[in-house]
Amino acid sequence: AIDPEFEQNRETVDEHEGHDVWGPVDEPEELGIHGTHVAVDFDICIADGACLEDCPVDVFEWVDSPDHPESEIKADPTHEAQCIDCMLCVDVCPVDAIDVDAG
Ligand code: SF4
Repeated sequence: AIDPEFEQNRETVDEHEGHDVWGPVDEPEELGIHGTHVAVDFDICIADGACLEDCPVDVFEWVDSPDHPESEIKADPTHEAQCIDCMLCVDVCPVDAIDVDAG
């Protein structure tokens, strides 16, 4: 599961589509965590798609992740600023790859 303390345990190494990327990143095998308010651990994401389907405000978009061991696409929290903290994505993710900081 994603580390809920990632902001303490990791450092930002990049920015992607307006959100932070928390390392370590070593492409293509290691992609880090994308987003901060809505954080998706790309190294856990298996591209199940439930978060894209269920998010009421369309926070997520697919991005390509060729040659990543878990999946060739990832659910990117592109529009994390729109999040309304409903926690649906956290509940439906089958691999617990998502952390939403509703506090
Ligand atoms: Fe979307 Fe709700 Fe998840 Fe926020 S908590 S990203 S609104 S599903």
